[in-house]
Formats: sequence, structure tokens, C-alpha cells
Amino acid sequence: MSIQLLNDSEALSRASRDRSLLTNSRMACQRACPKRHQFRYELGLVPDQPPSEAAWIGTLFHLACNLDEMGRPDQEIADVVRAKARDAYDAETVLRLWLAHRWRWQDHELDVVATEKAFRMPIRNPETNAMTFVFENGGKVDAVVRLEDGRLALLERKTISDDLSPGSDYWLRVRLDQQISLYVLAVRELGYDVTTILYDVVRRPGMRPGKVPLVDDDGVKIVCDAHGERVRTKDGKKWRESASAADGYVLQTRPETPEEWGARLAEDIESRIDFYFARVEVARTEDDLADFREELWQQQQQLRAAQLKGRWFRNTNACLVPFRCDYLNICDLKLDVGLSILEAGSAPRALQVPPGYKLVDTVHPELADDDVALEAASLADSAPRPATGAAPDANLAQNSSAPASAMAGSQPLNGTPAFEGPPTDYAQL
Ligand code: SF4
Repeated sequence: MSIQLLNDSEALSRASRDRSLLTNSRMACQRACPKRHQFRYELGLVPDQPPSEAAWIGTLFHLACNLDEMGRPDQEIADVVRAKARDAYDAETVLRLWLAHRWRWQDHELDVVATEKAFRMPIRNPETNAMTFVFENGGKVDAVVRLEDGRLALLERKTISDDLSPGSDYWLRVRLDQQISLYVLAVRELGYDVTTILYDVVRRPGMRPGKVPLVDDDGVKIVCDAHGERVRTKDGKKWRESASAADGYVLQTRPETPEEWGARLAEDIESRIDFYFARVEVARTEDDLADFREELWQQQQQLRAAQLKGRWFRNTNACLVPFRCDYLNICDLKLDVGLSILEAGSAPRALQVPPGYKLVDTVHPELADDDVALEAASLADSAPRPATGAAPDANLAQNSSAPASAMAGSQPLNGTPAFEGPPTDYAQL
């Protein structure tokens, strides 16, 4: 068999440590800036800081959806998300998005054939079919689903901050995305005759937990001056309720509670559901896949040449766009001494690690047997997802007709009634 299935945490961990593994993230990094690739994947040098909020939201949303597809009770999923989240606000964001996502697609339940499949497979010369022994492709696909018309589709679930509306730049870019070509080839190697990709995209909220005005016993907002004295209106008849920077009047507030934040977010989601969720089918033709094989072979050749020569050129156009590069501080000429130490190091462990950075063994954290992945893996082992009877609708793109009516198969949470309506209907998870 030309592909190795990695179902267990040990295998995933092994793959994560394997620097001969070419994942989509690694290839994208190499294309963006070879120097960044050297830092990140050759040396294993990464910023010594926790994952971003966006990364945590995405990971936990995926986890909630995976556990749901495994048939786990809603309360258990909520407990897992709360235990893993950085704080109660993140947990509330993920749980609201997850339940609203389920409500949005309640009439298009997916028939999940396989979920969270890790893979590695050889890279072959498209002309001779000979494989390289230097690199392998690797990754993890979200799921394989069966569409209403019987076709198998690769499910690609994304949490993003981009505009999801039809015709937006995001969808234009998706059609060129190499990742899905790689994943289509991978699931075909795994035995699934996939011809299309169903993008299931969730937009992370742009709004943030905010402040709530303090009110007195009569429900009147409280405004104080620079001395902490409560301020009256000019005629002195009522309490003033608005701030004034010019006069130094400050509206008294408290932080929004996680529950208040969740309720406000649910209201926003319900009021503009297609702002947050979209499903679009993106086809991959045989020509697309042939192009990808050519590009893949060329890229691994270039990568190998860079490794052999130890040359990693800098693409300074990528330093600040589309995000600030993690290595901008140590790529700077003022840190040339640090850089020359890095360049000269033959073994990553011998490197002098710049302040604010650390060396890692796992250069593919998306495949790592981290807590979240382990959670999903162990639960998957103990509780395979029951077969679903409902077939999905293959024509799902931008359908905004999801009714706010009954939602089949939902579970009670913390003893509250089953979740049967739109996001604002549930007050307590
Ligand atoms: S700072 Fe710029 S040149 Fe240096 S690694 Fe990052 S993108 Fe490349």
C-alpha cells in the first residue's frame, strides 16, 4: 500500500516530528518566504508564545463539530470545550458558533463516511512516476462525506475572518488552493473516490466582549466626574447618562459577563446568519490535479536544492503582508550576529536561541498528538459515530432559507429544554 494511515496518537506524534514531511502549511511557508521556512521547519525555531485567539477558536470549533459527528452528547461537548478554552469568553464564542452552525445546516445534515483522517503518501515524478525518498506528503483531512446524489466529497472545514459573501476574494482564492488538490489525492489513496470538495466555512466574530453601563436602582446609567462625583444634567433635574471627554465625565461600566457576551453574539449570528456561515462546493478536475502534481514535484526539488546548498533567500515582500512575520525581529540586520549563528548551526540543538523564541521537536503541530487531538482521537476510538440517515443537499451554496423551527436530534443541556430553535433560544449551555 502506497499510503500509511495514522490513526493513533503515537503515529501522529511520529509524523509530527518528521521533518521530511511536506504538509500544505510547510509548502505554503516555503512559497511565501524560504527564509521563514528555514526558521520554522528546518530549525524548528518558533515564537515562544501561546497560540493566538484565532487558532484556539478554530481548533475548539473543529473539536466540537468532530465530537458532535461522533454522536457525543451536547453537554459533554460543552464540558470539553469549556475545559480546553483559554477563558470563559472563548468557550462561549465556540459553543455559540457550534450550535448556530448546527442550526444553520439542520436541513443539510452531512452523511459522514470518515472523519479526521491523517495521511502520508509518497511524492511522485509526474513524468516517470518514480517517487522521491527525500520527502513525503502528509496532513489530516477533516472528513469525507456522501452527498445527496451519491458522490463522495472531501469536507474542508474552515474558521476564518474573511468576507464569505458570494464572489468575494476568499472564494476566488479557494478555487486555486493547492491544499484541496493535495487532500483529494490523499483521500483517493485512502480508497475514497472523491471528485469534489465541500467547503464548510465559519466566520469568526469581529465583535468583542465589551462593557456594560452600570445603572442605579432606578435603571439610570451612572456618570461620574474626575473626582468620582455623580453628575447631574445641566438643569440639575436628572442624572446625566452620557459621557463627555471634554468635561471629564465618565460613564461607569463593568465588563460584560461571558453569558451576556454569548447572548449578544447569538443575537448577531441569528440576525445575519449568512455573514457567519457558508457552504460551497468546489470541484477539482483531473487537469487541476495534474497541475498540482507538477507544482508539487517542482517545489520539492527546489526545497531539496535549498537544503543541499544551505541557501534560503529572503522574500521581504512577505515581511508584513498579509501578516507580520514571526521572524521579523531576528531577520533584522541589527541581529546579524544571531542570524549568523543560526546560519552556521548544523544541528538545531546547537543553536543559540534568540530571546522570545524556542526550539521545538514538533514542526507540524497541526498533526501533533496535543490535548485537543488526543481528545478527539480517544473519543473517536471509544465511540464511533452512529450512521446518519439524512442525506445532504449537494446544492448548499449560500442557502439562507434555514427555518428557525424544530431541530431534530438535539440534546438537553444542563437540564434545560432541548435546543430546538435559533441561536438566541438557548440561554444556558
Ligand atoms: S522577516 Fe521577512 S525575510 Fe525574514 S523570514 Fe520573515 S518574511 Fe522572510
